Amino acid sequence: MSHSPESATSNFIEEIVAEDLKSGKHTSVQTRFPPEPNGFLHIGHAKAICLDFGLAQQFGGKCNLRFDDTNPVAEDTKYVDAIRADIQWLGFQWDAEYYCSDYFQQLYDWAVVMIKAGNAYIDDTPQEEMSRQRGVPSRPGEESPHRNSSVERNLDLFARMKAGEFQEGTYVLRAKVDMTSPNMQLRDPVMYRILHKHHHRTGDQWCIYPTYDYAHGQSDSIEHVTHSICTLEFEVHRPLYEWYIQQLEIFPSRQIEFSRLNLTYVVMSKRRLLRLVNEGLVNGWDDPRMPTIAGLRRRGYTAAAIRNLAERVGVTKVKSVTDFSLLEFCIREDLNKIATRTMVVMDPLKLVVTNWPAGTTDLMEIENNPEDASAGSRMVPFSRELWIERDDFMEEPFKGYNRFAPGTEVRLKGAFILKCEDFVKDADGNVTEIHCSYDPDSRSGHDTTGKKVKGTIHWVSAAEAVDVELRLYDRLFMVEDPDGQATSEEKDFVEFINPNSLHVNHAAKAEASLGQAQAGDRFQFMRKGYFVCDPDSTVAKPVFNMTVNLKDTWAKQGNS
Ligand code: ATP
Ligand code: MG
Repeated sequence: MSHSPESATSNFIEEIVAEDLKSGKHTSVQTRFPPEPNGFLHIGHAKAICLDFGLAQQFGGKCNLRFDDTNPVAEDTKYVDAIRADIQWLGFQWDAEYYCSDYFQQLYDWAVVMIKAGNAYIDDTPQEEMSRQRGVPSRPGEESPHRNSSVERNLDLFARMKAGEFQEGTYVLRAKVDMTSPNMQLRDPVMYRILHKHHHRTGDQWCIYPTYDYAHGQSDSIEHVTHSICTLEFEVHRPLYEWYIQQLEIFPSRQIEFSRLNLTYVVMSKRRLLRLVNEGLVNGWDDPRMPTIAGLRRRGYTAAAIRNLAERVGVTKVKSVTDFSLLEFCIREDLNKIATRTMVVMDPLKLVVTNWPAGTTDLMEIENNPEDASAGSRMVPFSRELWIERDDFMEEPFKGYNRFAPGTEVRLKGAFILKCEDFVKDADGNVTEIHCSYDPDSRSGHDTTGKKVKGTIHWVSAAEAVDVELRLYDRLFMVEDPDGQATSEEKDFVEFINPNSLHVNHAAKAEASLGQAQAGDRFQFMRKGYFVCDPDSTVAKPVFNMTVNLKDTWAKQGNS
């Protein structure tokens, strides 16, 4: 987001803005981010946020946050609060905060202007008949019998609609544009409908509400938005956006469309996400499997990684689907730099160091992050009884296995080289513990043995180990495009939910330092993955969410 307007990498929107400033059409840049408060923001919104706020930053302009609250049925203050928090967490601060509902009176007054100018009329044609009259793009539509009603009749009915005299669905106000246009958006679109619904901000003051198309451009104009950025599906609405502004002779905001962010293995529309929440298919909007900003945050994603994704996918008019693994690449890249390395054994097997005196503990100094010298180091207790991963021992190793097996030597990370001398089995033949001797001359950083061992494994001292809960996630959907596949197979998208998207591990043993972790702290559990401390954590039982594993499929595909 730091390149100059002239930079070779500027996207087409930056070029338009730079040109408008150069030509003197505008002397400053005003953008807005216009969420409808009917759900939490998702990662697609993050792309729009980066663009709207980023353009303002780049050109020394301003970006407003405007809640597009024209549909009282689905909207709620709790979504307003969540949206504000998520934008700030992403690292952006709006200049002014507005609500479309602040403009209801102005929008009404302008509608009256439109009626008086003969540009809008009241219609009571039933909805089905209205869409029949609109017809198909290839043939002119049919005019409503009310299209040429008198201004007096229209004004009278509009005032009575506002006064609450009529039931929902009886009358609408329509713009009188062009019933012959091949662009269906221009075939006398609805401007106002009757909704006897309580609005989360205006209460019961209004029972007629403006439609998106009538409200959006006029709101942009009121705020003197110079460049109104939206997604590609609004391209066909642009002529209408411009028509309203021309008829009302108000500030000429310009709408510019870009292609939305789509990701594999998720659904992204708020309507779909709401269903997942309402039907209990996930644990709320911030469930770590959700593609919401709140879910990604709880999963351990950083704002920097999300902004980085937005930057990498770029701004174009080409419809595309981004591989979820690109997002994982972005978070790994960031966490590699900032996450504290620690040791957690997920499937513990007891290791007894036979030549270590019982009851004594020594401290091993282990660096917190090899990528960041300033991260320092910590002291990790080492004692006679340790936990290692069950699969770091094999009674009968396969060729090339370089961890513990009878007689082999392995380094314990940051500690000593140990030799496996013996192991114990229970009545069922399961290995219950292994017995090893340590080489006192092999201490990490002070190794004088000259031994070259192939394997280095993580470990935890049993006496100091902390029991932790690990929440391991897999993708929420089993198919790349749950929405598309549901449509083509005439199924419900929820049928593609992965039944194994959450696995909870209660057996893990963690290094003592993790007992102090606070919600939001990020770690790399060595050889396992990146984890974040969850708000459900208690002192008795710290809880960690797996953010992403260590394996990087994206870079391996040669993409980076
Ligand atoms: P949804 O269909 O998920 O409910 P929406 O477009 O209805 O999304 P709004 O709250 O109206 O949600 O959107 C606010 C802004 O975010 C709009 O400018 C919209 O174009 C943009 N936006 C929404 N989804 C995406 C996406 N997937 N990629 C980029 N921008 C998006
Ligand atoms: Mg919307």
